Amino acid sequence: MGPVGKTLFRNGWLADVEQGKLNRGELLVEGGKIAAIGPSISCSTALVIDLGGLVLSPGFIDLHTHLREPGYEYKETIASGSRAAAAGGFTTIACMPNTRPALDTAARIAWVKTQAEATSKVKVLPIGAVSLGQAGVAATSFADLKASGAVAFSDDGRGVMSSRLMLRALQASQDLAMPIMAHEEDAELAGNGSVNAGAISERLADAGIPAAAEFIMLARDLYLTELAGGHLHVCHVSTAESVNLIRQAKARGIKVTAEVTPHHLHLTEAIVPNLLGQAKVNPPLRDEVDRMAVIAGLVDGTIDVIATDHAPHAAHEKNVPVGQAAFGFSGLEVAYPVAQAALVDSGFLSLAELLPALTCRPASILGLPQGRLAVGAPADLVMLAPATRWRVTAEKLRSQGKNTPYLGQDLVGQVLLTMVDGQIVFDAREEGK
Ligand SMILES: [Zn+2]
Repeated sequence: MGPVGKTLFRNGWLADVEQGKLNRGELLVEGGKIAAIGPSISCSTALVIDLGGLVLSPGFIDLHTHLREPGYEYKETIASGSRAAAAGGFTTIACMPNTRPALDTAARIAWVKTQAEATSKVKVLPIGAVSLGQAGVAATSFADLKASGAVAFSDDGRGVMSSRLMLRALQASQDLAMPIMAHEEDAELAGNGSVNAGAISERLADAGIPAAAEFIMLARDLYLTELAGGHLHVCHVSTAESVNLIRQAKARGIKVTAEVTPHHLHLTEAIVPNLLGQAKVNPPLRDEVDRMAVIAGLVDGTIDVIATDHAPHAAHEKNVPVGQAAFGFSGLEVAYPVAQAALVDSGFLSLAELLPALTCRPASILGLPQGRLAVGAPADLVMLAPATRWRVTAEKLRSQGKNTPYLGQDLVGQVLLTMVDGQIVFDAREEGK
């Protein structure tokens, strides 16, 4: 990396995410930080980037990315996942510990940080496992994981079936001021289903994953959080009843935050019969009532953030019968246009009201200084072309995982340029994507 110079963004809209507004203005980057914001900034030594009337937002922050390294490098590496993040406008990503081996010791957390420093284009924040080997039995050494740089604890990929282990994790959350990121799934209720339980699972002769597999476990964890204190962060909320439970828990003063994925905001199980394995994800795509409920939850603040659950897989793991296909979508590179389609194009939010869910709110959940356009904040920025249409193709995706239900489709909303600490890490202004 070369020396970090000065960059002046002018002739566009600056996203004030804390106010949910877009303001005309100019922004100067110097020394990797935001140095000035104002109606007009003069600086003769800066590289000038003309926004051309488009939008400059704080870089997106993803609380839920699967980078697959170590152990599953054939699906994704920290390097390839970080290229996908940069192309999707994400400047900070928190990575889940369900690697091989799992990120369940201080040394493994430290290894990810070192590997990310060497190979990643964006900031990578490792999440430590709740249980050794994510086996759901013995707790990890939470304080050691935190000391080595873990930003949260999670056994994501599966639910924590042991109530005693979850209580212990929440006590550690309280003691260490770290969120527990909960994949709410009762494995016994979920059984071996592949898709949402209902008419479509019956048509496909699939056992079906009932909504209750999520909200029963969530109800338990909300009570455990009330008992233990601590901070419960609910991953990928997918059911209407989950939204109700979180809304009630917040009203009772329980410290709970929640995320929803772009695909649960935008898609339903209706696409499953056509796309089969390519539409298989956990939690599964639900019905329209659930989709409307998670949108309402995001709009009223019950759900705090949008997180991708970027889950890259190899083609041979997805292009198989639905019962054998791996769960998960590649999400980083389509998150912004899909969220915009679900929320802005349908009139639920303005773009300026959508952006906080991708920036300052995930930052505040992890206590990060980035995620806002403020003098002194890190110059983590993304330039957006909200009206530009582009086609999702396997060739365009930087992720090794080409598994997305959007393959071959046109999306509206393009990331044009991404900057991390004042350095351009992605630039599509010339290539036109
Ligand atoms: Zn999960």
